[in-house]
Amino acid sequence: EIKLYFAKFRTKEKTGGIVVVLQDITEQQRLDNSRREFVANVSHELRTPLTTIKGYAETLLYSAEENDFDKDNFISFLNVINNESDRMTRLVKDLLVLSRLDYGKKGLKKEKFDLSALVESVVAKQEINAKSAHLTLTYEPLSALLPFEGDRDAMEQVLVNIISNAIKYTGSDGKIYVASGKMYDSVYIKIKDNGIGIPKEDLPHIFERFYRVDKARSREKGGTGLGLAISHDIIAAHGGSIKINSIYGAGTEVVIILPTGKSSKKTRK
Ligand code: ADP
Repeated sequence: EIKLYFAKFRTKEKTGGIVVVLQDITEQQRLDNSRREFVANVSHELRTPLTTIKGYAETLLYSAEENDFDKDNFISFLNVINNESDRMTRLVKDLLVLSRLDYGKKGLKKEKFDLSALVESVVAKQEINAKSAHLTLTYEPLSALLPFEGDRDAMEQVLVNIISNAIKYTGSDGKIYVASGKMYDSVYIKIKDNGIGIPKEDLPHIFERFYRVDKARSREKGGTGLGLAISHDIIAAHGGSIKINSIYGAGTEVVIILPTGKSSKKTRK
């Protein structure tokens, strides 16, 4: 916020004025701080897999030079290097998506498609992951068609993020229920699980970049800590909202509400 103050003065000899400019730097400072924190987080997140890769590669190199290696060990070390490289790739991909989203709406494509068909195809693709985690995943479209205009790939990424979170953070024999429908000039998508839930004190931070309730668990499941932040930014760029309700130990519900834009405005009187 910038405030301008003017003061005039007049004496016998001359008239004049003073302009005082006061700029509120707290907002600027807050942005600087969060940018600094973000860069520190990115560096840390990239350095961790790099350190592991370097350590394992050096050990392999040393054993190869010494002609002392056991095949099983070799394979398990190479597996670690492979997994850590995949982690770095995911992280860099997510960072690129975030930087594209920093351009707001300009970074998004605009096309017409049926959101319900998109949810259905994402659910179908995630079914295999749900099955191998011994979870049931069901989709209930409460309206046959959900005409929508926006970025299809971005919306697909949101659905993949949220549904794969539900799978990652729900123990075996759990249930994941996805529903979608119309509501006035909006469409909604709900993703509900009966998994581990999120403690109340973590909920206000859950959309922050790199925020995780349980770092070790997220790492073990291959998470980057950016999925919810990306989803939030994509939904916001479409003018919608994303909310999370959760009870620790009982389950989580994610509700996405999106304005349908032109097509619904036409019918409004
Ligand atoms: P991650 O890559 O760690 O999954 P996200 O940004 O997708 O990152 O999610 C941030 C954190 O929110 C996760 O680490 C997890 O602690 C929590 N979380 C997200 N979805 C769920 C869910 N359905 N149930 C429980 N916790 C969740």
